[in-house]
Amino acid sequence: MRPHSFDPSQLLRWYDRACRDLPWRRTRDPYAIWVSEIMLQQTQVRTAIPFYERWMRAFPTVESLARADEQEALALWQGLGYYRRCRYLLQGAAWIVEHGMPQTAEGWLRVPGVGAYTAAAVASIAFGEPAALVDGNVRRVFARLEACRETGGELERRAWDWARSAVHPHRPGDWNQALMELGATVCVPATPRCDECPLADGCLGHRYGIARELPTPTSKPVPVQMERLARIPYHEGRFGVEKIAPGEWWEGMWSFPISQRGEDVGAWGEDLGTVRHTVTHHKIAMRCTLVRCDTADEALRWLSIEELAAVPMPSPQRKALRLALRHLGLD
Ligand code: SF4
Repeated sequence: MRPHSFDPSQLLRWYDRACRDLPWRRTRDPYAIWVSEIMLQQTQVRTAIPFYERWMRAFPTVESLARADEQEALALWQGLGYYRRCRYLLQGAAWIVEHGMPQTAEGWLRVPGVGAYTAAAVASIAFGEPAALVDGNVRRVFARLEACRETGGELERRAWDWARSAVHPHRPGDWNQALMELGATVCVPATPRCDECPLADGCLGHRYGIARELPTPTSKPVPVQMERLARIPYHEGRFGVEKIAPGEWWEGMWSFPISQRGEDVGAWGEDLGTVRHTVTHHKIAMRCTLVRCDTADEALRWLSIEELAAVPMPSPQRKALRLALRHLGLD
């Protein structure tokens, strides 16, 4: 690794001046920082803010989260997606209450659902440990600064080596956040704003005119089309739902009965149309049918509109519910 060709204080000075005022940046509470870091995985900052604020109002301490009802937590998470993160927070809170709040990156790695990135983020921001981290933004900044054309595991390895060599010994939390902030606001994917960049003088990608080509793109996974049928049972103002089984997507949340394509929608009830939803590279098309029932099937749980609003339901199910309410003239 070549010696750094930029002055680290340039990046910190830029960060002091330009960093966005975000709610999790106003605290050194490791619990709050952990929650924000988990939320920010796969979620844009702007989207995460209201979820973070609601979550911290409902569960202001790790003890309150450890006592929380899973359904309440899932309902608060609703709309953020990737629900496994919510379950990891619940499991992690229980672990922390039992074993104590870790003070180091190594300690944080023992918390369920915490990987190298999150461990370093919490340890550096909350406890000032000079623990390096790499996320998508840091990976991109590194690839451009060092004109690194590697991809996959080799890019990852080099980015971590670089991050460890570069982390600021006295302000590691700010340093890590500054690198991520630079990637999020200046060294952005398609059109890096090199004329505003505090690291431009030492950036090889900029000097060679290849910044936009880096990091080297990799092929995207082929989209997987999934077709499903949703039967929406309706009886005397209530809808029949069932809990999603362990091991399934969205486990523990509530769903209308779903089946694979191949059954005759028309034979069930009134066709409501199709809702579409994308999860990573999976594209779900779910045909929805309203089934007016003479009796309330005991295998299902029958909930009013108000009760449905309070339980966690996956996004496609919420969309299906909206179709049914509109069809029934109840929206
Ligand atoms: Fe990214 Fe441009 Fe800054 Fe290099 S000079 S780090 S390419 S914004």
